[in-house]
Amino acid sequence: MSALPSREIRLKSRPEGVPGPENFELATGEARAPGAGEVRVRNTFMSVDPYMRGRMTDRPSYVPPFQIGQPMEGGAIGEVADSGDAAFAPGDLVSSMLGWREVFTAPAGALQKLDTSSGLAPQAYLGVAGMPGLTAWAGLYDIGQLKEGETVWVSAAAGAVGSVACQLAKAKGCTVIGTAGGEEKLEYLRTIGVDHPVDYRSAGDLKTAIKAVAGKGVNLYFDNVGGDHLEAALDVLRPYGRAAICGMIALYNNDRPTPGPMNMPLIIGKRLRLQGFIVFDHMASQPAFHAEIARLTAEGRMDSRDTIVDGIENAPDAFLTLFTGDKIGKMLVRL
Ligand code: NDP
Repeated sequence: MSALPSREIRLKSRPEGVPGPENFELATGEARAPGAGEVRVRNTFMSVDPYMRGRMTDRPSYVPPFQIGQPMEGGAIGEVADSGDAAFAPGDLVSSMLGWREVFTAPAGALQKLDTSSGLAPQAYLGVAGMPGLTAWAGLYDIGQLKEGETVWVSAAAGAVGSVACQLAKAKGCTVIGTAGGEEKLEYLRTIGVDHPVDYRSAGDLKTAIKAVAGKGVNLYFDNVGGDHLEAALDVLRPYGRAAICGMIALYNNDRPTPGPMNMPLIIGKRLRLQGFIVFDHMASQPAFHAEIARLTAEGRMDSRDTIVDGIENAPDAFLTLFTGDKIGKMLVRL
C-alpha cells in the first residue's frame, strides 16, 4: 500500500469582514497507508457550516482557530479505503471531522461508523440527522422547552438548522413562523408546512411583519440570525416567552462590535428567558433525536433538502453561499 494523493483546502489568509476566495488555497497533500490502529478514508461528502467563519479568525472560542497554511477541518462522510484497525473494514461508511480534503489517514478513534439502518442517505448525517438537526432539537427542546400548540418563530428557516426546527415544531403541533430571504425559500417553507413564511428582505419593518401573523405573540423564538431579528423577537415575544439563541449569522462578518438590540429592557418587563447553547453539550439527546428523525422520515414528515456542489475545488464557494443565502437546506460538497 502506498500513499494516495489528496487534494485539500488550506486557510491561506484570515478574512477581515466578509471572507472571499482569496482566503482559501487548493493544495495537494497525501494520505499515507494506514499503520496499526489507523484507517484510510476516502471522503464522499463534506459539510460547510457558518461556525467555520469563527475559526478563520484568530481568537479564543469554543473551537480553536484554523491555522494559516494548514488544511481546514469540518464534518465529513466517507468510505473506508483500507484499514489497520479490526473495527473498520474497506467499504464501511464513516463520519469524521476531517473534511476539506479528499482522502485522509487517521487513528480509528477519530471515526464513527454510520448506522445506515434508518434508510436515510449517508449525507443526511451531515444535515437533518447530523449536527444541524441535533442543533434544532436541542434548541427547541433542551433549551426552548417547546410545548404542544405554542407559536414558534424560526429565523434562517430555510437553512440546515432552521428547516429541521420548523418541521420538528410542526410535528409537535405548533404554529410556525419562518423567516427567510426570497420567494424561492418561502415556497420551500410552504412545502414543509410552515404556517407563516415571511421574507425578511421585502417585509419592511420585521417586527410589524411578525406581529401581523403571530396572533397573541410568540412563545419561543429560535434565533439563527441575531441583530435586527433578535430585536424584533424581543418585541413579539409574549410575557414569559423564551428565546433559544443558536446563532447570529448576521454578525459573523462584522469586523467591529455592533450595537445590540435597542429594546433589551423588554427582557425585564416581559420576564423573558434568553439562553445560548452549543450543540456539543447536547449529545445525550442524540438517541431521542435520531428516533424522532427516523420516525418522521418514515412518515414522510421530515424533508431533508440539500444543495450540493461537486468537487473540493468548489468548497470555498459553497462555504461563501452561507452568507449570501444562495442555497436551500443543507449546503454540502460532494467529493
Ligand atoms: P444555514 O443553512 O441556515 O445557512 C445560513 C443562512 O443564514 C443563509 O442561507 C441565509 O439564509 C441566512 N443568512 C445569512 N446572512 C444573513 C443575514 N445577514 N441576515 C439574515 N439571514 C442571513 O446555516 P446553518 O443552518 O448551518 O446554521 C444556522 C445558524 O445556526 C447559524 O447562525 C449557525 O452559526 C448556527 N449554529 C449554531 C450551532 C450551535 O451549536 N449553537 C450549531 C449549528 C449551527 P437567507 O437567504 O434566509 O438569508
